[in-house]
Amino acid sequence: MVTYNFICPDCNNNVLAEILTDVVMTSIIVDIHIKDDQVEPDYQEGETDGGIVERYQCDHCGFVLKTESDQTVDSLDDLKNWLEEHGVVQLDNDYLSDNESLN
Ligand SMILES: [Zn+2]
Repeated sequence: MVTYNFICPDCNNNVLAEILTDVVMTSIIVDIHIKDDQVEPDYQEGETDGGIVERYQCDHCGFVLKTESDQTVDSLDDLKNWLEEHGVVQLDNDYLSDNESLN
């Protein structure tokens, strides 16, 4: 197994965001406050269902991942290719033991 880390080419941030459309989101409401006739729910957690990947982008600056042919990366296959080209391999135990077994 190889684990890749995303590093943004523009800002060096390492948080990758997956942007989905057509998604159903369920939010759990724990308390409902009413103040001056305004309803203000307290949301505890959310859960999403379904959805179609529209793009992958840097969570910090919004840099959108593009394929070699300048198409927006919108599938895990494209993401894999992008990471193989631009990602940083994380040196985890599996990686180290894989290399040790070569010696
Ligand atoms: Zn960025």
